[in-house]
Amino acid sequence: MARQKIALFGGTFDPIHIGHTVVAADAAEQLGAGKVIFIPAKRSPLKGFLPKGADEHRLAMITLAVAGNENFEASDFELNQPAPSYTLATVRKFQHDYTSDVAFYWLLGADGVDDLQHWHAVEELIDACNLCTMYRAGCEPPDYSRFERIWGRTRVEKLQRTVIQTPLVDISSTEIRRRLAAGQDVADMLHPAVAEYIRRHGLYGTKSQL
Ligand code: ATP
Repeated sequence: MARQKIALFGGTFDPIHIGHTVVAADAAEQLGAGKVIFIPAKRSPLKGFLPKGADEHRLAMITLAVAGNENFEASDFELNQPAPSYTLATVRKFQHDYTSDVAFYWLLGADGVDDLQHWHAVEELIDACNLCTMYRAGCEPPDYSRFERIWGRTRVEKLQRTVIQTPLVDISSTEIRRRLAAGQDVADMLHPAVAEYIRRHGLYGTKSQL
C-alpha cells in the first residue's frame, strides 16, 4: 500500500496570505499529499525581528484561512514551545505522533534556499524528511547544486528531486504589512475572513482600507 503523505508548512505567517494557501494547495496536489499542516513559528531563528502579530492572532488568522479546505490544518505546536523554533524538532514531533507509514514533506519557498545552510542540523533535517522547495515570484528557480560540496551529492540530489514548480504568486507578508500601515488596499492578497480579522483587531497599524 502507498504511504500516506503529509506536508508540513512552517513560517511566521504574519499574516497568512493567498500566496501561502495557493502554493500549499498546488504542492499538495503535485506530491499527492492528503494533508497540509500549517505551523506558525514562535520566532524564526533567522529573522532578526519578532513577528509583528501576536501568536494568538497569527494562529487565529491561519485557522480562518484554512477553514474552507478540508485538506488543510493549523498546528499550535511551535507556538507552545520555547522560541526559536527548530524545524528538525518539529518534524521529529510529527513523525513521533503518526505511524511510520506516513511520509513527511516540509514545504519551503525558494527565498529560503540561501538561508538553509544556516538552519540548525540541516543535514539531519534533509535526511529525516523530504524537504520540498517551491517556486516563488521574484526568486530564481530553486537550485541546490552549489551546496554539493558541503552537503554531499546524495543530499543535493534528494533536494533537487523535490523542487516543485508551484504557481508564481507575487505576495509577501512584508508587503501586506507595509500596505496596511500606509492605509493601502490589500483585499486581493488575503482571504476575506483574514482581512476582516485584521480590520476588527486593528492589526499591523491598519487604517482600514480592507
Ligand atoms: P515575510 O514577508 O514576513 O518574510 P513571507 O510572505 O515570506 O513573510 P512567511 O510566513 O515567512 O511569509 O513564509 C512561510 C513560508 O512560505 C516560507 O517558506 C516562504 O518562502 C513561503 N512563501 C511565502 N509566500 C510565498 C509565495 N508567495 N510563494 C511561494 N512561497 C511563499
